[in-house]
Amino acid sequence: MQTELTSFWEWQQHYSDDDACLQAIIKHRWPTGFCCPRCQHTKGWLLHTRHAFECTECHHHTSITAGTVFHNTKLPLVKWFWCIYWLSTDKGSISALRLTKLIGVSWRTAQRILRILRNAMGEQNSLYKLTGTIELDDAFVGGKHAGKRGRGAKGKTAILVACEHNNGKPGFVAMKAVPSIDKENVRKFAQENIKQGQTLNTDAFRALNVLSETQHHIAKVTPAELVDEWLPWVHIVISNFKSYLLGTYHGVSGMYLQEYLDEFCYRLNRRF
Ligand SMILES: [Zn+2]
Repeated sequence: MQTELTSFWEWQQHYSDDDACLQAIIKHRWPTGFCCPRCQHTKGWLLHTRHAFECTECHHHTSITAGTVFHNTKLPLVKWFWCIYWLSTDKGSISALRLTKLIGVSWRTAQRILRILRNAMGEQNSLYKLTGTIELDDAFVGGKHAGKRGRGAKGKTAILVACEHNNGKPGFVAMKAVPSIDKENVRKFAQENIKQGQTLNTDAFRALNVLSETQHHIAKVTPAELVDEWLPWVHIVISNFKSYLLGTYHGVSGMYLQEYLDEFCYRLNRRF
C-alpha cells in the first residue's frame, strides 16, 4: 500500500470511511479490475459487509481481504488504515497504549494490530536483497545500557545489521535479531538478506569471517576511533535504532525485538 499522501489530514480525508478503504484494497489487488478466479468473468457484485465479490456469472464468492492484514477483521477498515499511516510515516511509530486512545480499542487489540502490521512490514523487507558495497556489523540492544560484544550485554539481544553504502550515501538496510553472533547466524543472515558476490565491509570480528564463503569480504581490524570512517552508515543505523527503542519503548524483550526491527527497517527503506 502506497502512503504517498503526506499529512494525516490528507490521509484521513482520503480514507474517510470503510468503503473508501475497501476500494483502495480492491484497486491494489485487482489493478486492472476484478476477475473471478473460478470463471474469469470480470463483473462482480460487491458484498460490503463480507469484504467479498460475488461473481455475476457463476456466483462464486471471492474474498477481497484474503492474504492481507485485514483478513477476518472485526475492526472497521478505517481504523486499520489510520494505524498504517501512524506506523509507516517518517516520524515513526506509535505505542499500543497511544493507539488504544486514538482509535478506541482495548490494549490487547492495539497490540495485536501492531504485531500484524509489523509482521507485514517484515515480509515486505524480506522481498529485497542488498547489493553493491555493504557495511555489516553486530550490536546488542534492548537493555538499559548500550553495549558491545560481551561488555554490558546482559539482558540485551544480539542483532546483525547490514547497510548498503552507495557513493557516500546509505542505501537499503537489513536488520535481524539473533540468539548469538556466531558463524551459523551470520551465514543465514547473509543468505536471506544479501545477494551473493557483493562487497562486504566489516570490522574483522571472527564470526563474520564466514561471509567470505559467498561474498567479497573486506575485514579491517578497526579501533573504536576509526569505526565511523570504515563503517559509517551501519553505525548511524544502529545508533538511531537504539534511540528509537529508548524513546518509544522501554525494555523491549528479545521475543518482540524482531518486530521493532522490522518496523524501523521498513520506514528506513521506504525512503526509496
Ligand atoms: Zn465466476
